[in-house]
Amino acid sequence: MYYYDFKVVLQEVPGEISLCFSISGCNLRCEGCHSPFLWKEGNGNILTEEIYTTLLNQYKNLATCVLFMGGEWHETELITMLQLAKKQNLKTCLYTGEKYVSEAITKQLTFLKTGKWKQKIGGLEKTNTNQNFINVKTNQNLNYLFSKN
Ligand code: SF4
Repeated sequence: MYYYDFKVVLQEVPGEISLCFSISGCNLRCEGCHSPFLWKEGNGNILTEEIYTTLLNQYKNLATCVLFMGGEWHETELITMLQLAKKQNLKTCLYTGEKYVSEAITKQLTFLKTGKWKQKIGGLEKTNTNQNFINVKTNQNLNYLFSKN
């Protein structure tokens, strides 16, 4: 599994300080995709367990969540990464363009964002968006947390 970049982000998971890994190899080809550099499998660097755990340890006292932008196409590796995060008492989140991801992945998540990017409709901050951000355990839709009003 290759990651194009790593960032600490504050808005993608409301109320959380998230360690965000953008995984390359997305084949959904959404029109108007904001991250076409994620389309090509192998773009970026290999996310080894060593690199990953080093980053988790480095941000141990700051981060509250680990966020994957994609990566569901590497199910086994993604699950391993999510489990490692949970072991460190971090919450976990996946942003996917798919409508659904496997139960095996979902079981490892605190939050899940689903739905393709549709430029004409817009993202989570729009009331008529096709995307959903949920609390996995309660199945509660949390899109309202992204609303700018
Ligand atoms: S899911 Fe995200 S990265 Fe993949 S094509 Fe759609 S907008 Fe781009």
